[in-house]
Amino acid sequence: MRAMINADIASILKAIPPQVTVVAATKTRTPEEIIGVISAGITIVGENYVQEAERKHLLIAQGVQWHLIGHLQRNKVKKAIRIFDMIETLDSLSLAEAVDRECAAQKKAMPVLVEINSGREPQKAGVMPEDAVDFVSQLKRFSFIDPVGVMTMGPATDDITVLRSCFRVTRDMFKRIEQECSPGAGWKHISMGMSNSYMAAIEEGATMVRLGTILFGAR
Ligand SMILES: *Cc1c(COP(=O)(O)O)cnc(C)c1O
Repeated sequence: MRAMINADIASILKAIPPQVTVVAATKTRTPEEIIGVISAGITIVGENYVQEAERKHLLIAQGVQWHLIGHLQRNKVKKAIRIFDMIETLDSLSLAEAVDRECAAQKKAMPVLVEINSGREPQKAGVMPEDAVDFVSQLKRFSFIDPVGVMTMGPATDDITVLRSCFRVTRDMFKRIEQECSPGAGWKHISMGMSNSYMAAIEEGATMVRLGTILFGAR
């Protein structure tokens, strides 16, 4: 797939309902490419790796939000808190503790999404669906962490039926947490759906989609 020109990106964005936010998944993309999609209307940049994000963050003007969409290693927490406006991949209490401690040091509250292992894949990151309610209740003790929703990757497949059922699991967990944990007014995000699945994800309740290939071309 070739890189999109701005008019193509604008029409992709236009076809997405206004209440759904698009996060550009920018791993491996150059600052120039990222600035290109920002000029076409992207307002949130999603990076997988802290060091890669740090380099690009220096080169890209203010005015966009930065989301961490990859797994956060403990030794990168300090830099991550400096760079990112949201961590989409919180999936353990020990990581939550490290994030909370560093946020306290930097005097910065951090909105987080709880990553759900919606495909129940043993090797994958994320909280198992059946553990998610308990996980969010335990986050209450961290005063600098603000849980604002859930995120899922889903299995690496193009089978839309499989992906849809994972999106449903994720949306159901979002609702159960809302009912059982009273996570507060900020609880409103469901980040799911990528280039091959975002329309289905939106039908299943996504409020945030993470798009790479369809915006930038193949990696
Ligand atoms: C790369 C990536 C995406 C986007 O994937 P595409 O298929 O290129 O749209 C979304 N979410 C995460 C976590 C990613 O790493």
